[in-house]
Amino acid sequence: MTAPHGSMPTYIGMPSFPAAARTAVADSQLRANLTHATHAIRAKRAGAVAELSDWEGLRQAAKAIKDHTLAHLDTYLLRLEANVTRAGGHVHWASGAAEANAIVARLVRDAGADGVVKVKSMATQETGLNEALAADGIGALETDLAELIVQLGHDRPSHILVPAIHRNRAEIREIFRSQMPGVPAGLTDDPQALAGAARAHLRQAFLSAQVGVSGANFAIAETGSLVVVESEGNGRMCVTLPRTLISVVGIEKVLPSWRDLEVFLALLPRSSTAERMNPYTSTWTGITPGDGPENFHLVLLDNGRTSALADPTGRQALRCIRCSACLNVCPVYQRVGGHAYGSPYPGPIGAIITPQLRGVTSPADASLPYASTLCGACYEVCPVAINIPAALVHLRGEVVEKKRSKAFDLERIVMRQAAWVLRSGRRLGLAQRAASASRVLFGRSGRIRRLPPPLTGWTKTRDAPAPPPESFRAWWARTHKDAK
Ligand code: SF4
Repeated sequence: MTAPHGSMPTYIGMPSFPAAARTAVADSQLRANLTHATHAIRAKRAGAVAELSDWEGLRQAAKAIKDHTLAHLDTYLLRLEANVTRAGGHVHWASGAAEANAIVARLVRDAGADGVVKVKSMATQETGLNEALAADGIGALETDLAELIVQLGHDRPSHILVPAIHRNRAEIREIFRSQMPGVPAGLTDDPQALAGAARAHLRQAFLSAQVGVSGANFAIAETGSLVVVESEGNGRMCVTLPRTLISVVGIEKVLPSWRDLEVFLALLPRSSTAERMNPYTSTWTGITPGDGPENFHLVLLDNGRTSALADPTGRQALRCIRCSACLNVCPVYQRVGGHAYGSPYPGPIGAIITPQLRGVTSPADASLPYASTLCGACYEVCPVAINIPAALVHLRGEVVEKKRSKAFDLERIVMRQAAWVLRSGRRLGLAQRAASASRVLFGRSGRIRRLPPPLTGWTKTRDAPAPPPESFRAWWARTHKDAK
């Protein structure tokens, strides 16, 4: 299976991060919704994590398990395939998004269905499955409450765990009122009333669905079992009620054994929803006559993962268990939300996983490694100890290398000139004197409001201090003559 880089079809043509972030930051309602939600989740998470005395030990164990599995990924994937097949399932390998979507569409048609119910699945968001199925005349109904809100609102998810985090209750009520068939007249924005309306809307779909589509949080190689953790029970309905179940799973989700799973089931709920355990943990192994789906298909998705695996620094991103803890502590994410990242993977993890899956050739992807202050809060909370700041710096290096291959690179020319000046004390002294003399151009305020190109970007959102009347070197030479 070879996939140099993957694609995320529904996100093609997104603006670069700074342009998208500018729009998001200007939306005060969005900022208020995000601040309220992320602060509430992170405070609860801190309490849940503090309950465990060996959190750091668990974290290091999870890191070691994931690193071992990634180092022997071929072995564990083949073992998973053999055991899924032995249990009556079918395994399909998809190198990219289009191939994965085509496999799912064919399986749905083979099942004689024209619609599917879905449990929240980031892999299918990545492949743009809903849009691909729609083009094939197949409807896809999202059954996770937040995903349903996003789908009805013709919107995109903006958080890994809480895809509709950017919506408040009043906005959700309006979406339900305008988009949900049979919504009760006089629906209020009370959370119970909103959940009740969604439940009634989804129930009939669950009972009549012929095909369910899921992702998986983990895939256990030793028995060929899949695991989905969730809070609402919709996932369990999707994986048990339809006659055909199709699970689209990234190849990095495999774990060697059930013993390994134990570590992750302790880390994931506390990191994501601040719960001691998930309300629903569904596991299944192939098919069982008379119990659950009659047909089970596992689509194993590469879509750029093997290329990420080839990068010694970047591959740690494949440890991610999509808990979203890094989003909730990120000062950048809290202000711009998820849409600005132009990918189903927002926040700090999105800033490193998306450029690895898609490459850094487009302006949008090349801008993502810079969508961070490098404060390190994401690394501190990550339950699998992904050093996101180190990966960001590494990816910035890749972006610079890519730029170097261009015929004309202004930044490179400027940096070369700066290096020439800084290599010589005499040249540096002359440059400092010239800079001090240029003060007259900036008036008496001591601030520069607009720098000329190529430095214009610096003063777009801030002033720059004018050069001092005298450099440190000049001051030292003047005041320490005797010390020579
Ligand atoms: S990078 Fe770490 S903190 Fe962020 S979603 Fe993944 S596992 Fe969670």
